[in-house]
Amino acid sequence: WAKTHGCDGYKVFHAAMHKQTMAQLEMEADIRKGLDRNEFSLHYQPIVSLETNRVVGMEALLRWNHPLRGAIPPMQFIPVAEESGLIVPLGERVLTLALAQAVRVRALLGEQPFYVSVNLSPRQLVHKELSTMVQRALERARLPAGVLKLEVTESLVMENPAQARAILKDLQDLGCRLAIDDFGTGYSSLSHLCQYPFDTLKIDRSFVSLLEDSNLRHEGIVQAILHMAQSLDMHVVAEGIETPAQIQTLTRLGCRTGQGYFFASPMDAPSLEAFLTRTPCVPALPAILAHPSL
Ligand code: C2E
Ligand code: MG
Ligand code: MG
Ligand code: MG
Repeated sequence: WAKTHGCDGYKVFHAAMHKQTMAQLEMEADIRKGLDRNEFSLHYQPIVSLETNRVVGMEALLRWNHPLRGAIPPMQFIPVAEESGLIVPLGERVLTLALAQAVRVRALLGEQPFYVSVNLSPRQLVHKELSTMVQRALERARLPAGVLKLEVTESLVMENPAQARAILKDLQDLGCRLAIDDFGTGYSSLSHLCQYPFDTLKIDRSFVSLLEDSNLRHEGIVQAILHMAQSLDMHVVAEGIETPAQIQTLTRLGCRTGQGYFFASPMDAPSLEAFLTRTPCVPALPAILAHPSL
């Protein structure tokens, strides 16, 4: 590239690289400070049974309120945290916060079964100590392991498959539940289903959004995913549900659990608790269809 574009081209390229590296280093330092200063928090998105309309769980989603730059989306800082290794302390912070919130929600909901889903990074799946860290966090929170579901994005699992498999197996032995996240978007999804002990499959929202227009091909794909999950004895959660039409199609195809802006956006802990007190059940589909504005 430098040859065809000459030395100046190279300099421009180099300067751009340098700028990016500097930005990355700066963000890395900021993440470190942010951990010290408690700038990270979690939002929670309810996960809903499409059969009973009850909230059955919540997904913890990381938020960073930067003192100068304001809210920075996870897609921007998580890759930096992964590359720098800061995802390890950050991930531990996430788990501690999420479990503490799960304790509060369980107290609020009483006997009703309820789980918390926490996202894991590939960098966390190469540390053998991960399952020990998870076990300690569960013990500190005095929660049974079954309350915790760990979500792994499929493209992430493969860097060191044998290691990832061993760690996921440890987590499963601990009693945690394991979900394959964003199913259908990464590659070699099917081989992941054979290789790793997932009990839950989360259909990526790109498939759910395609259900908007009644296109038989799109429905066919979702139906095939549901059939496959059923024969593998896996639970399915549809991500990114935004419309009644999507709920209707998903329900017709046999999908029993979902999450998305239609039911509730991710929200901070006090809002979540208010939401659950107000709405332990989301409106049922017949009511939604009768009053689309619900
Ligand atoms: P994800 O785990 O697939 O999480 C779902 C994302 O979809 C969230 O984005 C959520 O806010 C968004 N979402 C939920 N419902 C809807 C909907 O109806 N429509 C649309 N368009 N979007 C919806 P968010 O919070 O920006 O997180 C993005 C990604 O960042 C997550 O994707 C996950 O991969 C990663 N992430 C978030 N928190 C953590 C964390 O604590 N640790 C790690 N390692 N990754 C995290
Ligand atoms: Mg997730
Ligand atoms: Mg997802
Ligand atoms: Mg995702």
